[in-house]
Amino acid sequence: MATASKAAESKAAQVFDAIVIGAGFAGLYQLHCLRDRLGLSVKVLERGGGLGGTWYWNRYPGARCDSESHGYCFTFSKDLYEAWEWSERYPGQAEILRYLNFVADRLDLKRDIAFDTTVRAARYDATTNRWRIDTAQGETFEATYLVTAVGCLSTANVPAIPGRQTFAGAKYHTGDWPHGGVDFAGKRVGLIGTGATGIQATPVIAAAARHLTVFQRTANYSVPARNTPLSADFKTYAKTHHAEIRAITQATTNGHPFTIDDRSVFDVTPAEREKIYEDAWEKGGLQFRAGFRDILTDKAANDTAAEFLKRKIRNVVRDAKTANVLADIDHPYSAKRPPIDSGYFETFNRPNVTLVDLRAEPIEAIVPSGVVTTKGTYDLDILVFATGFDAMTGPLLGLGLEGRDGVNLRDFWRSGPHTYLGMQIPGFPNLFVVTGPGSPSVLTNMPVAIEQNVEWITDCIAHMRANGLSRAEPSGKAVEAWDAEVQRAADATLLPTVKHSWYLGANVPGKPRVFMPYAGGMNLYRKRCDDAAANGFEGIQFT
Ligand code: NAP
Repeated sequence: MATASKAAESKAAQVFDAIVIGAGFAGLYQLHCLRDRLGLSVKVLERGGGLGGTWYWNRYPGARCDSESHGYCFTFSKDLYEAWEWSERYPGQAEILRYLNFVADRLDLKRDIAFDTTVRAARYDATTNRWRIDTAQGETFEATYLVTAVGCLSTANVPAIPGRQTFAGAKYHTGDWPHGGVDFAGKRVGLIGTGATGIQATPVIAAAARHLTVFQRTANYSVPARNTPLSADFKTYAKTHHAEIRAITQATTNGHPFTIDDRSVFDVTPAEREKIYEDAWEKGGLQFRAGFRDILTDKAANDTAAEFLKRKIRNVVRDAKTANVLADIDHPYSAKRPPIDSGYFETFNRPNVTLVDLRAEPIEAIVPSGVVTTKGTYDLDILVFATGFDAMTGPLLGLGLEGRDGVNLRDFWRSGPHTYLGMQIPGFPNLFVVTGPGSPSVLTNMPVAIEQNVEWITDCIAHMRANGLSRAEPSGKAVEAWDAEVQRAADATLLPTVKHSWYLGANVPGKPRVFMPYAGGMNLYRKRCDDAAANGFEGIQFT
């Protein structure tokens, strides 16, 4: 290790104005903004063999975006928006990768991306006012600005179940899926995890495998996605309404291309409410939340949606015992990220699918032949971990970031993340984070949050260059105030009431329990960032 780092240090560094880490939505747009708008020299370092970020790695069966396609794309350029045509209501993983490659080709981005390049360490050097970045491949880069565009959900969380390594069959995490796919034909498959990923994968694996055993620890709500090919009329609508669609995504709290009704659950009669929920169920998708303004803030209001959705599970699932286990949901609807599905609950009516209730029979171990619970052994040929991610902070801590005075990010964030607007970290000058903890990110339609963050970071760097400022670092006071604002915004919702939530870091043993994303709404956050920018990027200390 010491020899390797010595070799890296002795090798001449490649010097750029800016290094961007990650070539997903965020990294691609950041490259375009810094290179083509500000005229900087930029290199993107990407650990994958291709671009796409989340969509490069998450190739599991059924992987599809839960945002509707006409809103799940860049909207900064009308030409770019109109030049692409989505085929389905929700874009599938392969189509999103095609889209991102189309964007990269159209903007000529690939020539400035180094693939198969994993950042191992990034250190700020106060004497040169530069970041020095070492890669696992032995290359060294230096840059004045370092932008992380590593995504929020890119560090897989594989639970340390005793005996995991002894499993004799094949095992996969959904976030690191083989590019050639997995052949489930004739196989007994076990799937651990019933979050948004497990709920997407279950029906597809069940249709291909000899038998599927779903291991459920926490029951989850799900609303039908009602995915469908887009009609010619809708495609025309999307192509001719760029400005309107963009305006809606920028005006709402969650960045999706639909508005949230401004009535309370209790402004209508129970019969009217039932009709509103029924219509929303038929329409499908994340819009189910949009019927009322108080579903995520008032427990009594939330209970009405929760009861409706639990009733639907019992209506769909024929076996009463299985239905009870699936409907035994212990958190408010939408207080964890609400999944949407294509035939999830229906899958439990198939003869080749078994549900295991881990609350009644916890997993004790993984053995060569399968999974052992307190009640017995489930023999398996393939084991799928749909067990989520070390979210938000995990991908940043994995970069080995070391700021001013040798401060390590891992140490600085030991009790939880501290940021200014989710984009800057005290003690880490000229480091900019796209969709970091403290920004709305995962609580929104991601491309909208990404565009806003990338543009703000670009404007901040432009401000520095226009004013001869060499160093940007947030003040301790601004960070303290923003940390408090993030907490206050979360406390105004039901979100922090869920004990086992990755928003709180509760899914990773030893991780501090701090609510990480900003829950005050994308629209309010945008205004807050705009106001800071208009006041000379208030909150940031420049030298
Ligand atoms: P997740 O929401 O964290 O779900 C992980 C699942 O694994 C949970 O059911 C969890 O149970 C279970 N689990 C974890 N450790 C376990 C253990 N030791 N034993 C048994 N069960 C265990 O992860 P995810 O489903 O991958 O979703 C993560 C996020 O990715 C989503 O919330 C969403 O933001 C994003 N996503 C987006 C899309 C999309 O737009 N298409 C699709 C998929 C995911 P507990 O709940 O009991 O902890």
